[in-house]
Amino acid sequence: MKIQSTRAPVPFFSQRATFEALWPRIADGLDEVLDGGKFSHGRAVAALEADLAAWTGARHVIGVNSGTDALVLLLRAAGLRPGDEVVVPAFSFVASASAVVLAGGRPRFADIDPETYALDPAAASAAVTGRTRMLMPVHLFSRMADMDALGAVAGAHDLRIVEDSAEAIGMRHRGTHAGLLGAGGVLSFFPSKTLGAIGDAGAVLTDDPYIAETVAALRHHGRPGPSLHNFPAIATASALPGTNSKMDDLQAEVLRAKLGRLDADIARRAALAEAYTARLTGAPGIRKVPTGSVFYVYLIEADDRDGLAAHLAARGIGTEVYYPRPLHLQPCFADLGHRAGDFPHAEAACARTLALPLYPDLADGDVGVVCDAIDDFYRGGNR
Ligand SMILES: *Cc1c(COP(=O)(O)O)cnc(C)c1O
Repeated sequence: MKIQSTRAPVPFFSQRATFEALWPRIADGLDEVLDGGKFSHGRAVAALEADLAAWTGARHVIGVNSGTDALVLLLRAAGLRPGDEVVVPAFSFVASASAVVLAGGRPRFADIDPETYALDPAAASAAVTGRTRMLMPVHLFSRMADMDALGAVAGAHDLRIVEDSAEAIGMRHRGTHAGLLGAGGVLSFFPSKTLGAIGDAGAVLTDDPYIAETVAALRHHGRPGPSLHNFPAIATASALPGTNSKMDDLQAEVLRAKLGRLDADIARRAALAEAYTARLTGAPGIRKVPTGSVFYVYLIEADDRDGLAAHLAARGIGTEVYYPRPLHLQPCFADLGHRAGDFPHAEAACARTLALPLYPDLADGDVGVVCDAIDDFYRGGNR
């Protein structure tokens, strides 16, 4: 007997209907993987890389097994040396900074611009020291970092830009896809991301053939592929051993199927975001609604954020706090010697922001249900 699952009135995330619609296409793909007998780093991965290159406009896409690994291998291929510093925003997912450590470098935190939630160019410039080699803008939620100003900072200090574009699939700056504005960028295909697998996967995007070949070798134990020739720089990068960060073909087939409807999914997310914005702009308790045209999550700033989240949870409405603690106050980075108050905009974002449900499977009426419950919290004397 099939056990009936209890579905919250509005879960924070669900892609049940998406997968039901795509299942025949995914099943065909999996059949091919089973027939071909190569389950990792096989034909489906190569096909996905080509599909993603066409979709993003990247000259090179290298599939790996997570967004985190994509960042680590990209930093190494872009020339990060042991002890080099990378400027990273204090408001991000931990992987932005832990990838720097895993690549042998040292994160140098800087505050965010409260409008974009991304690295503030002036703060980034002020954080640069004689050991700083790279800037890592992170494009969060629905907006991109100010890449023109950050490009100027990089130019002035002779730094490379490596973008954490893990959440930014579909975002473009004057026509150029996120991740292709500096040395390279990454995509994460973690299940909840805009293009999500049914497990972990990620990719590096770059227009730089040297970075592409180096990442391709590093993901596979440092082994150069058949098309690679001996070029001196790879020997330098290979001074550190390669790793096993190959992508599974099963994930690649799921991603190829979902990529076929990514434009429609992005449009659906934008329509839902517009419906939220129409209801929440200027509403009591809501300090800020997001802007943008590509939405990974719908992030509001709200008074008594935790009270609101608890009120919504009691009504079966899922929310998430991205991110509850700024990176400079995470225990793992305590050695860097920061204290509360060092990056006030990052700290304020952690205290006030709340992500509301936003995904293609969300029903039109769900936005109204969520907004009614928010209204009820601020007007209804529930506080
Ligand atoms: C998801 C994410 C990552 C890491 O990606 P994984 O695939 O989960 O390893 C890195 N940075 C940001 C900003 C992310 O949102």
